[in-house]
Amino acid sequence: MIKVLDENLINKIAAGEVIERPVNVVKELVENSLDANASSIVVNVEQRLISIEDDGDGMSKEDLIECIKRHATSKISNFDDLDGVVSLGFRGEALASVAAVSDLKITSRQKEKVEGNFVNVEFGNFKEKDVVGCSEGTKVEVKDLFFNTPVRKKFLDEKEFDRILEMMMKMALVHCGVRFKLVKDKKVVLDVYRGDLQDRVVSVYSLDVVKELLKVEYKDLGIKVSGFVSKPSLLRNDKSMQSFFVNSRLIESKEISKAVYDAYKSLLFVKKHPVVILSLEMEGVDVNVHPTKQEIRFENPEVVYNVVYDAIRSMFREEKMVFEVQEKFFDSKIVQEASSKASLDLSKQVTLGDSKKSDGFVKIPNLKLLGCIGKTYWIGETSEGLVLIDQHVVQERILYERFMKEYMDGEVSVQSLLSPEVVELDVRYAGRMKENLDKFKDIGFEIEEFGDNSFRISTVPVIFGSVFNKIHLLDLLGDMRAVKDYKEKVVTRMACRSSIKAGDEVSEYRLMALLRELDRCELPFTCPHGRPIIIKLAMSDLEKMFRRK
Ligand code: ADP
Ligand code: MG
Repeated sequence: MIKVLDENLINKIAAGEVIERPVNVVKELVENSLDANASSIVVNVEQRLISIEDDGDGMSKEDLIECIKRHATSKISNFDDLDGVVSLGFRGEALASVAAVSDLKITSRQKEKVEGNFVNVEFGNFKEKDVVGCSEGTKVEVKDLFFNTPVRKKFLDEKEFDRILEMMMKMALVHCGVRFKLVKDKKVVLDVYRGDLQDRVVSVYSLDVVKELLKVEYKDLGIKVSGFVSKPSLLRNDKSMQSFFVNSRLIESKEISKAVYDAYKSLLFVKKHPVVILSLEMEGVDVNVHPTKQEIRFENPEVVYNVVYDAIRSMFREEKMVFEVQEKFFDSKIVQEASSKASLDLSKQVTLGDSKKSDGFVKIPNLKLLGCIGKTYWIGETSEGLVLIDQHVVQERILYERFMKEYMDGEVSVQSLLSPEVVELDVRYAGRMKENLDKFKDIGFEIEEFGDNSFRISTVPVIFGSVFNKIHLLDLLGDMRAVKDYKEKVVTRMACRSSIKAGDEVSEYRLMALLRELDRCELPFTCPHGRPIIIKLAMSDLEKMFRRK
């Protein structure tokens, strides 16, 4: 027999979608306070109680009863309103859901009123209402959350509290004009005052973090992107320090996340994550696609991807990544001399550009080489102090960018082998090789089958020419198995294998020439695996180390 469910049960079912866990409750209630124009929001969390107090607009006596009904909202009234939603809430479900699964008390007073009102609903059943004295704004107390839904009953354990803290920190980042305070068991855990985004980042994270961030201000195709992203020197083991906002709404977005990671490509160490705080202001967003509103739909996802990608990538092209470029301090003759000799020295290995462009570096700091230790690390003097340079990664970055460009443009320079080389592979590899002959062709290897499990190689990419051997071929074959990013892997490996190694004898001239080429790279600060190329030790660091300061 089919029956229409009663309102109480409907609310309980709906609660499952809107508020899966305590952190969702806190988020919904904080959003309500923000929508009510609060300038201060205080969240209290205890074992069996969550309370949120704001100094916002408050609710009238009538609204206080209405607000706990399902689909009761003051924020939209017709279908068209959905398109232009500027409030964080609009579904009118949160309070009804919370009321169905907790002992809920709301106290509220509107600004111009002398008295406030109070209402209590216990697990969906109306208990009590009253006129009370209280301060302006609204206080919502949620006790014994989920006590009537045993399966989902989740106590406020440490992990859940961490989620609440993380969510509050993120909300605090974008709503800079609002004071956020989080108290746990009577101890203040977070308390941030009003300020601008930078102040907020300092108080939510720390000054140390802010120093490693680059400010993003970008506008294109009707989308304004602002916020901060970390230099590759500040990476985390997880994504907890990544927040994305669209029109001030904290959201999760595959598009934005992908754009961020793609922009960091070849700058990040494997399994490391950047700190990202990105706020987008734009039109063409559908916010009504997810019960907890954490996902949204973009009308033009590709445009969003492109703009976010460009916004971040443009930061990395600028000079401030690792060093501020200092004034020229050294005798530019040294460099000129070095580079002219280098171009002779290197002839084919390193293609130097116009050697007359030569008053110092643009991206990397101007430096004078002092020497090399362990046939690996070079020491250079700069106006700021000293720098250490890893000879292997300098060339690795250069070859990576050069080869990636050739590859992407479909113009890989190849060299023919004087006598074609024949390699024999075991059955497994031979099978895979047959499947990947086209991919090999794209990177400059002309390979054809040559009898049973044998292959004849007639050309190799120039970049790989001098080091090519069978083992490398098998490694590349392994890289090609990667489902995504195989191109990246292949190019990274070839750049790595073709570069001078730690322990190789390298002349100062050659290194200087490489540095000049590095300076012209798009991203001259990390190797394609994300390791630093140049490390600096500022004079002030030296002074500290020698206790002069
Ligand atoms: P929604 O936020 O989607 O409108 P809610 O169930 O979260 O739905 O809230 C219902 C209504 O209750 C809101 O539209 C608003 O009018 C009122 N309300 C809720 N919380 C507050 C608050 N802290 N201050 C003022 N009004 C509030
Ligand atoms: Mg709401």
